[in-house]
Amino acid sequence: MSLAVLGATGSIGRSTLDVVARHADRFKLFALTAHRSAERLLELCRAHHPHYAVLSGIGADAALERRFAEAGSELLFGAPALDQVVAHDRCTAVMAGIVGAAGLASTLAAVRAGKRVLLANKEALVMAGSLVMQAARDSGALLLPVDSEHNAVFQCFSEKKSIRKIVLTASGGPFRQTSPEKLSGVTPEQACAHPNWVMGRKISVDSATMMNKGLEVIEARWLFDLAPEAIEVVIHPQSIVHSMVEYLDGSVIAQLSNPDMRVPAIKNLSFEEPDLARFPCLELAYAALRAGRSAPTLLNAANEIAVEAFLAGRLGFTGIARVIGETMDELPTGPVGALAEVLAADGKARATAAALVMAQAA
Ligand code: NAD
Ligand code: MG
Repeated sequence: MSLAVLGATGSIGRSTLDVVARHADRFKLFALTAHRSAERLLELCRAHHPHYAVLSGIGADAALERRFAEAGSELLFGAPALDQVVAHDRCTAVMAGIVGAAGLASTLAAVRAGKRVLLANKEALVMAGSLVMQAARDSGALLLPVDSEHNAVFQCFSEKKSIRKIVLTASGGPFRQTSPEKLSGVTPEQACAHPNWVMGRKISVDSATMMNKGLEVIEARWLFDLAPEAIEVVIHPQSIVHSMVEYLDGSVIAQLSNPDMRVPAIKNLSFEEPDLARFPCLELAYAALRAGRSAPTLLNAANEIAVEAFLAGRLGFTGIARVIGETMDELPTGPVGALAEVLAADGKARATAAALVMAQAA
């Protein structure tokens, strides 16, 4: 397999490279990409020798190009280079590990080119699920879910039985037991201190608000072609059960594994219903899924703006859900049949959410 790792310097990227290094006989690295962290990407190229390296967030730089060439990798610049490497004839598989809406175009390019797409970037399906799934049907691309919940569901599927519903488990994040009135004062550091995993900062905040689970519900709707009512969320603080599938005959198949090798085997498995007063983002995501059209695109964009503002200290934690809810209330939904329509909706929601952040700060 000749693999392009998009977002190689991130949490997903580094885990991917770790797996690749252990199975050098099965994987060849075709390309590694990062947005602006040139030095970290260069280090990765020295260690893994991909054919191409891409810095999507900076313009051409001859000195950098030379240093990458010395490491044996051809360096390309700018976001279009992402689409170029994933669609390349010699690339057979793509790890979509870029965070946020920035990952949509390259994920779609890989799907359109009919590659095997290892999908970590959940925002692509949230923003443009129908478009991405249609492109996969047209090109024959194989979409393999990397998100642990969807991967678990995927593994639980039984070809012989009909599904009643799937149950996505959620850890509940760092604030599962924090009283709602204390949530307004929590800091980015507290929000990023996930009890069970170390991940990038955006998904860590999403886990703390449970928007992450909301995005995963929408992701699941597209991956598994399910109605919103057939996707349930349950809080399971031990994160041992990665997700479950309930069949029409009443049986449930679950996929379990230890979330972290350092955690001793846990003997108790507990499940509780999510408290929607504490986690309004989950409710907002279900509402967007039910509303359809561009509503999930608007939700995702507003969330990215709000999370960015929270991480920068410009918005309180509880302001995140407020900004998303008000953005959704303010903007009408439209069709998302083409990438241009998705990006237009995304842009509008970003502008609206940014104005709401400013108004809240004033
Ligand atoms: P991260 O912040 O650690 O890494 C993000 C990567 O994307 C970096 O390599 C960065 O250079 C690149 N990037 C950032 N902005 C970019 C832009 N504008 N254009 C191009 N590249 C850009 O993020 P992460 O935690 O690895 O998450 C990546 C994706 O995987 C997210 O969509 C997340 O929801 C999903 N995911 C992550 C985990 C996890 O364990 N970290 C689990 C499940 C799903
Ligand atoms: Mg997940």
